[in-house]
Amino acid sequence: MISVKNLSKRFGDKVVLDNISLDIAQGEVVAIIGPSGSGKSTLLRCLNLLEKPESGTIEIGDRVLDTRRYSTKEAYALRQQTAMVFQNYNLFKNKTALENITEALIVVKKMPKKQTQEIGLRLIEQVGLLPEAHQYPVTLSGGQQQRVGIARALAVDPKAILFDEPTSALDPERVHEVLQVIQNLAKNSTTMVIVTHEMQFAKEVADRVIFMADGHIVEQGPAEQVISFSDNPQTQRFLRQMT
Ligand code: ATP
Ligand code: MG
Repeated sequence: MISVKNLSKRFGDKVVLDNISLDIAQGEVVAIIGPSGSGKSTLLRCLNLLEKPESGTIEIGDRVLDTRRYSTKEAYALRQQTAMVFQNYNLFKNKTALENITEALIVVKKMPKKQTQEIGLRLIEQVGLLPEAHQYPVTLSGGQQQRVGIARALAVDPKAILFDEPTSALDPERVHEVLQVIQNLAKNSTTMVIVTHEMQFAKEVADRVIFMADGHIVEQGPAEQVISFSDNPQTQRFLRQMT
C-alpha cells in the first residue's frame, strides 16, 4: 500500500530523514514513536509532499513518485492517496462540522450536493457527532473537533490516513473518545500511520511500532515487542522517559 525507498530530507545543513525505507501493507496500522525532533512529523509530511524530500521514491496505492523529479500533476495524484489528521485539528472556523467534512467533496471531487450531504451525515454519525452536525468548531470541545477532523479525512476515501499526534492537544478526559474512533477504524482495516506518544494506545491499536531517532528507523516490530520487550538501549532509554 505504502512503499518508501531511500527517503532523505534536510533542513539547511541538518539531515532530518536519513535514507528511510519503509513498507506498509493494506489494512496495517503502524504507530511511529520517538523523541522530539527525531523526524516523525517530517516523515508524515513528506509522504503527502507537504515537505519536499531531497531524494527517494514514494509509492502509495497505485502511484509512484521520484521525489527528485516530479510534475505538479504527479504530486496532486499522490496527495489524493492520503488524508492527514493534525494535532491542532486545522478545521475551517467559518464552516460547520458538516461543512468541514463535505468541503473537499464539493470543491475537489465536485460531487452533487445531495451526495455530499449523504456522505457527510454518514461520517458524522460514524464519529458520534450527529447532534453537533450544524455547530461551528468554536462551539465544540477539542475531542469533538478532532473527531470532525477524522471524519473529514475519511470523506475523501483515502488509501491511508496519516495522523500526527491526534490526541496530544486534548484535555486528558477527551483523549479516550478520539482513540476510540481510531480503534474502530482499525477494526475496519483502514490503513493508518499514527505518530503518537500514547504508548498504551500504540500497544492496543498498532500492528507494528516503529521507533525513530535522529532521522533513522532504529527499531520496528510488533507493538508489544517494541514497547514492552525491546532490548535496544536507545528504545529503552526513550520508553523510560515516557513513563
Ligand atoms: P516532535 O515529537 O517534537 O513533534 P518530530 O519527531 O515530529 O518531533 P520533526 O518535526 O519532524 O520532529 O522535526 C525534525 C527536525 O527537523 C527537528 O530538528 C526540527 O527542528 C527540524 N524541522 C522541522 N521542520 C522544520 C522547518 N520547517 N524548518 C527547519 N527545520 C525544521
Ligand atoms: Mg512532530
